[in-house]
Amino acid sequence: MPPHLPRLYEAAAYDTSRLPASHWHATAGPAPACPPLAGPLRTGTAVIGAGVTGLAAAIALAARGEAVAVLDAGPPGWGASGRNGGFVCVGGTKLSDTAIARRFGDAEARAFVRFQEAAVAEVAALIATHGIAAETGPAGEVCLAHSPAAMGRLAAAAAARARLGGTPARMVPAAALAAEGLAGPGFFGAAVSPVGFGIHPLRFLHGMMRAALAAGVRLACMTAVRGLAPEGGGWRVETAAGPVLARRVLVATNGYSAETLPPWIAGRTLPVLSSILVTRPLTPAERAAAGFTDARMAFDSRTLLHYFRHLPDGRFLFGMRGGLSAAPSALARTQERARAHFEAMFPAWREVETAAAWSGLACLTGSLAAFAGPVPGAAGLFAAFGWHGSGVAMGTLAGGRMAAAMLGGDGGIPAPLAAPPRRFPLPPLRRAWLAAAYLAAGLADGPVGGRPTRETSHNALK
Ligand SMILES: Cc1cc2nc3c(=O)[nH]c(=O)nc-3n(C[C@H](O)[C@H](O)[C@H](O)COP(=O)(O)OP(=O)(O)OC[C@H]3O[C@@H](n4cnc5c(N)ncnc54)[C@H](O)[C@@H]3O)c2cc1C
Repeated sequence: MPPHLPRLYEAAAYDTSRLPASHWHATAGPAPACPPLAGPLRTGTAVIGAGVTGLAAAIALAARGEAVAVLDAGPPGWGASGRNGGFVCVGGTKLSDTAIARRFGDAEARAFVRFQEAAVAEVAALIATHGIAAETGPAGEVCLAHSPAAMGRLAAAAAARARLGGTPARMVPAAALAAEGLAGPGFFGAAVSPVGFGIHPLRFLHGMMRAALAAGVRLACMTAVRGLAPEGGGWRVETAAGPVLARRVLVATNGYSAETLPPWIAGRTLPVLSSILVTRPLTPAERAAAGFTDARMAFDSRTLLHYFRHLPDGRFLFGMRGGLSAAPSALARTQERARAHFEAMFPAWREVETAAAWSGLACLTGSLAAFAGPVPGAAGLFAAFGWHGSGVAMGTLAGGRMAAAMLGGDGGIPAPLAAPPRRFPLPPLRRAWLAAAYLAAGLADGPVGGRPTRETSHNALK
């Protein structure tokens, strides 16, 4: 990516010259051809960022007859869309349903819940429509209580969601976890929602790229945008191959956003690291030994949550938020911490080797909710970002809905996503705020797997 664009983390986080060594990249099969832009271009809409958000917008714009070019600084699937956990799930905010209802009213909160569930359905529909071999997993998402008190909070959250018209979750008491294949030393019950399913995220992304190409979208990889300025009633998008002149621009750069592209975005995003490890395939006996055999997507109720699921080929995927530096040595330490948490939560698999580990950037905003809409004060400029670690479904639906909004219609974006995000207070200190928030959350969450891990006991000493 252009080194002169200011971003929040170390340069290594933005090195688009190589793909992360992820399980997904090792198993996705060949990527669609996506050569860099070769020269100046004039188009209807330019989309910056070829993740799920940008591609969904491009496909929907092309379906409406719009000429579209999608520009990405990296190779196919370089961003979070090619390296996430593959949870097709509700989300897009860190606000509770109750907080959203309080801020926006019941009707908008209901519309937002409907949007979240429609987002999951949208991914399923795109997979079916475009015949994407996405390695779809079983339906449903399990939230495991990490303490007895958390079980009460899960039940309250499930009731709040049901009140707003969401699909009800089923509460599973601790004593019934083993029968559901959800046992673990630190699990005290669960809320099981039928909404959501797992996918191979990079296969999905490749499928979206192929669908965009088939719809006539111009895709340019290894094409970093260096600048953006209004020109002739539209926008001039600067690249090394020359300018792209477009009537409209959608910025869909999420956790990899630069602080100046456009300047309005400065201080409104907080990219956060998330790290994943994938084991070698577990034998059926190993799966049974842990008592955790259910293949639905799962996560725990910690603020600094862990997310995990069995993959179709028997491997186990385990991910967690955390880490304050993207320097290679710091990332290696964060991945070691992820391994320590994995061993604490699933002690039966202590001897099971990690086959691949990698990290990437998700994105929070100053309003704790995602944004999809026009950039204030900049006619023809739009942005969609801030999926709060759950953008696979939310970014896909919001990207698609942005097409209508960008062409002057009603995009059907619910109020919580339409409100431009606030700036973080004292934006240069965002990583310091994050350090404090992680420390507080780690203390409140307590030990992992019912006992201190190398990391938690170390933190306790600090
Ligand atoms: C490790 C990890 C695990 C996750 N797990 C899940 C999960 O299981 N489920 C879920 O729903 N969400 C998950 N997320 C979040 C999810 O991956 C993201 O919310 C989603 O992929 C965002 O999609 P996007 O298209 O908005 O952005 P991205 O996929 O990040 O794409 C942004 C693109 O913008 C490009 N870009 C940036 N700047 C420029 C520029 N100047 N010029 C050109 N291109 C540029 C980048 O190269 C990048 O490809 C996870 C994230 C991470 C990091």
